[in-house]
Amino acid sequence: MSVSVTKPKASKRCPVCSGLFNSSFGNAKLKDGTICGRCARQVRVMYPAEYERLELKKDPLKKCTVAQIKEKMTEVVPYIEDLRAQYGYNAVLTVESVEIGKKKLFQEAKIYAHGPVKIGCFDQTDEVTIIHGSTETKATILEINQGRPYTEIGYFDWCYRADAGFPVSLIFQQKGLKIEPGDIIVKGKITG
Ligand SMILES: [Zn+2]
Repeated sequence: MSVSVTKPKASKRCPVCSGLFNSSFGNAKLKDGTICGRCARQVRVMYPAEYERLELKKDPLKKCTVAQIKEKMTEVVPYIEDLRAQYGYNAVLTVESVEIGKKKLFQEAKIYAHGPVKIGCFDQTDEVTIIHGSTETKATILEINQGRPYTEIGYFDWCYRADAGFPVSLIFQQKGLKIEPGDIIVKGKITG
């Protein structure tokens, strides 16, 4: 009599942190494997992705090996600390393009400031500072869109949070606010 044995499922563990994959959400494909979303999020700051609308157009992680990323993980924290010291803020977005929405009756036009999040993250309703040369202006994030900076944006472009290593549009609606390409949007000044 033969006994059939069901082979146990190969444990799905991340080759970088050895943690179990929680889901496929946020996982990143490398040249020779797939890493979990937690590791991908951490290392993403060193390998910024390029999106066109919601489609990932260029992912530099795809060219990396598991061994390379394992090594880079030990450099992530000092890398972020360096950038923070350089900018003097915990979260930084560099503005590459700006679009102005339609002006509606009794409402300010929305301003879409598009660019990559260099470090940290931005959330909806965050109070940020817009640095234009030596001028600093306080503003509150109304909404965040991922992908490209379309003023006629689709519903699915909306997101809660902008993470380091991804381009997004921070959206403002504030009287007299001016944002230009080259400006820097920051949050969390580092003191001392
Ligand atoms: Zn991992």
